[in-house]
Amino acid sequence: MSLAARLRPITPSLTLSVSSQAKAMRAAGQPVWDLSAGEPDFDTPEPIKAAAKLALDRGMTKYGPAAGLPELRAALAAKLQQDNGLRYAPEQVMVTNGGKHALFNLMMVLLEGGDEAIIPSPYWVSYPEMVKLAGATPVLVPADVHNDYKITPAQLAAAITPQTKLFVLNSPGNPTGSVYTPAEVKALAAVLAAHPQVWVVSDEIYEKIRYDGATHFSIAACPELFDRTLIANGFAKAYSMTGWRVGYLAGPTAVIAAATMVQGHSTSNVCTFAQYGAIAAVTGSQEGVAAMTAAFAERREIIYERVRTIPGLVCPKPAGAFYLFPDIGALGLDSRTFCEKLLQEEGVAIVPGIAFGADTNVRLSYATDRQTIEEACDRLGRFVSRQR
Ligand code: GLU
Repeated sequence: MSLAARLRPITPSLTLSVSSQAKAMRAAGQPVWDLSAGEPDFDTPEPIKAAAKLALDRGMTKYGPAAGLPELRAALAAKLQQDNGLRYAPEQVMVTNGGKHALFNLMMVLLEGGDEAIIPSPYWVSYPEMVKLAGATPVLVPADVHNDYKITPAQLAAAITPQTKLFVLNSPGNPTGSVYTPAEVKALAAVLAAHPQVWVVSDEIYEKIRYDGATHFSIAACPELFDRTLIANGFAKAYSMTGWRVGYLAGPTAVIAAATMVQGHSTSNVCTFAQYGAIAAVTGSQEGVAAMTAAFAERREIIYERVRTIPGLVCPKPAGAFYLFPDIGALGLDSRTFCEKLLQEEGVAIVPGIAFGADTNVRLSYATDRQTIEEACDRLGRFVSRQR
């Protein structure tokens, strides 16, 4: 018996496996300082939970339209207009099982054998694997730490070939926390404008989580690209709704219709009562988002100061998301060995950079409480000093 050949180049998600390992260790009574998953420690805000409970009580437990509840699609179209200045009809927005599923759907719809998808590296763990599952080839473009882990227009231009079908942009980015300025986004758009066969996906899941006045500018707002850009976003990070699995995809009508067809044959609609929670999230007060972002900003200062001052680590200060991505190259350990030893010897869980295409880095998530961050940093410092 053999598995399908399409799985041969695919590796498991390391972000998910490290975080499950940390959770299992804790459940078994072992102390763990968990800076692995990008999973906010806050509870989902009360009004969102109340809306989902009410929906359950009212019997909203049946199938719904595969593309999502019409009220939610309309609310998301209004959000895209208000926050991002983008005009979408509700039919141009579909509700997906998390932001990850929005990306998966669109890869299935846009990519096939022989196609290339350009991905700036370091990249979020699942992009290349999704591209490969769709039968296409990931083309990685290395972003330099000295350019704040952002690729340049010249690098993008050099990577485009007649086979290029998709460009993946993630700003604010995971794992680096880098945020492209509006001018930088426009410069990339100018390159793409000359290549009409290239679709663009803008993964905006960290849109709301920014610091020091950094702005979020969607590449879909560049008029020359609006008709061939897909926006993937979701509720997990901004509203602390990771387990709810509600995300969305917005873009040209034909692509959304095709992605809805794929979804209709795979998952059907997103959990109906979870969608009612999402309606409350997007239409209600945004105070919860502001409070959580303010907490991330405080934690960022603490963790950055602690990690920056550990001799042997080199760490840029990120402008968005909730990750640090220090360079461990000076210590002579590959990222997997580093993380395994750190977990065994100090009980600190972090993600090897190899998951993101950077084997001389590790990723620390600070979407957790201050005490955990401080203890984890003490332990990390001790561990690093033993390697030198
Ligand atoms: N996106 C989060 C992370 O990078 C959650 C895990 C995942 O979906 O990969 O940690």
